[in-house]
Amino acid sequence: MQPIERVLSEVDRAADEIVQFTADLVRIPTVNPPGEEYEACAHFLGDYLERRSFAVEYIAAEGRAEHTVRHPRVNVVGSRRGGAGPVVHLNGHIDVVPPGDGWTVDPFGGLVRDGKILGRGVCDMKAGIAAAVFAAEAIARAGVTLPGTIEISGTVDEESGGFAGVAYLADAGRIKAGRTDFVIIPEPLNVDRICIGHRGVYWFEVTARGRIGHGSMPFLGISAIDGMGRLLESVRDVLVPALAARRTAVPVVPPGARSATININGIVGGQPVDGIQTPCVADLCRAVFDRRFLIEEGFDAAKREITELVARVAEAGGVRFDVRDLMVVHPTRTPDDSPVIASLDRSIRSVLGRTPELIASPGTYDHKHVARIAGVPHCVAYGPGELEQAHQPDEYCRIDDLVNATKVIALATLDLMGAWSGE
Ligand SMILES: [Zn+2]
Repeated sequence: MQPIERVLSEVDRAADEIVQFTADLVRIPTVNPPGEEYEACAHFLGDYLERRSFAVEYIAAEGRAEHTVRHPRVNVVGSRRGGAGPVVHLNGHIDVVPPGDGWTVDPFGGLVRDGKILGRGVCDMKAGIAAAVFAAEAIARAGVTLPGTIEISGTVDEESGGFAGVAYLADAGRIKAGRTDFVIIPEPLNVDRICIGHRGVYWFEVTARGRIGHGSMPFLGISAIDGMGRLLESVRDVLVPALAARRTAVPVVPPGARSATININGIVGGQPVDGIQTPCVADLCRAVFDRRFLIEEGFDAAKREITELVARVAEAGGVRFDVRDLMVVHPTRTPDDSPVIASLDRSIRSVLGRTPELIASPGTYDHKHVARIAGVPHCVAYGPGELEQAHQPDEYCRIDDLVNATKVIALATLDLMGAWSGE
């Protein structure tokens, strides 16, 4: 057998182990927020890698406010050196979102049924971590000499921005240009799609200030809620149609997300509705907005548009508005000619016999930190699991997808190291 065929058949032989490993990861309830069981999960992964002759480091996010005694932020990075060839880094986040309602199975039971593994975070993205681990393992079991270095990391807090996770590793120089050549993040984006980036994010808070007055004579006060209402009207009638008309050339899925969008995360104003009521005109109202902008728009223009919209509403009278930036994530896009796209493309064709689709994500993921902080342009997301399953009740990953993605990642890793060229 050719080395590549041996690698693929080792993945098939390991199918039950891959499922078991995924189910074991699901049984560690790494719920974020607040960040439960990170240390246990990092060690579960690290122990396995150590037994498979990886050099393992644990990197706690010292100095970050969210790294506490109660909820330590512990990342794990394993590294297996082969030859002097490229460093391929496979990164997965270990945190999962809370289960929420609507489950018919134990979200942390790791149940395997009908060709699927079920549980919170199985698709997003513990199956992806298992695929990375067993891609490396199959290469080793096949006796293929690794021409480069394979790294596998399990990182925290992706669901809450990744600042103590991938951003921390990038800040610390553990993932960085010159040290890390290629990064694959096995997020669930369907087994025949390669994700080349995401739209930008601008979270901002608007505070409306009016003047308090007696509720029986509202005309003597200035209602901040009324002012916020006018702003929301303007967002709905002017901004939303303008954003919907802007389409990006980046292949964002689903199609609705190819346009710029805005969402209102929350709003609070006046007196608490469940408290004792007094007759007062509301003098304060605050709302938080989530604006997703396109690479073609850029952050400055997106922000200017908001500032101008708010200023126009303010001109109409009375209420004063302040806009405060909460978070900015710039859009990222893998270069078209990146070897990591080409390698995954060849590997998907070879394993699945299908032409992969290039897509971009409607939301952001840790790619941003790899691209912007670490300065590594050659990063994509590719992994098992269906995007639509992420964060759903009865979340699942199909076992055949998991096995296929493991094969694809193994081939792509070898291809990036020059040990395979897609025959
Ligand atoms: Zn994810």
